[in-house]
Amino acid sequence: MEEDLKVEINWDVDQDKMREQVQGMIEACRRWGKVLVLPLSMSEESIFLILSQVDCRNCDAICCQSGPAPVTLLDSEYASMKWKKLPERKLSLPCQFLDCNLCAIYKDRPMNCLMFPIQRGGRIADKYGKNHEEALALASYCPEARRIAMRAYMAIWEVKYKITKVSTEEISRILRGH
Ligand code: SF4
Ligand code: SF4
Repeated sequence: MEEDLKVEINWDVDQDKMREQVQGMIEACRRWGKVLVLPLSMSEESIFLILSQVDCRNCDAICCQSGPAPVTLLDSEYASMKWKKLPERKLSLPCQFLDCNLCAIYKDRPMNCLMFPIQRGGRIADKYGKNHEEALALASYCPEARRIAMRAYMAIWEVKYKITKVSTEEISRILRGH
């Protein structure tokens, strides 16, 4: 498992600075082989949201070719007969099921492949910077993970930015319902 890189994001900046900051963080994670921590807690909803955004069409199956292998854990639900025949129930790299950059056992792929590029090891501090909770993290060597991380940070920055731009008068007006 890759570890996370301890970075502090300053959200109180303009859009260009925010993009630059996130780009720097993404590049540092990639360079140092660290997971990309997203500003989202680990929940079923955020996992499904992230996985639904992954589009592997323009990638040469980096995760199945060179890893670090996402593929040693075999969940019994996904352990098909093909899996049971594998020595040590473990995949090599490049994966023996990779066929012309496609997974030959896609429907039976193990849980680690199914969940990829989601990783464990990400932590975010609460608003007081004290208690840490598990955050959603992505494998930084996956190009889609890097694209999604940038989008996630920028989308959350936009929401935060808009909220801080709402005046007290506007908030009062919204609360009064007119
Ligand atoms: S490295 Fe990422 S983008 Fe490439 S095939 Fe794996 S999950 Fe898809
Ligand atoms: S089982 Fe399929 S998805 Fe998993 S590493 Fe092998 S080719 Fe890739």
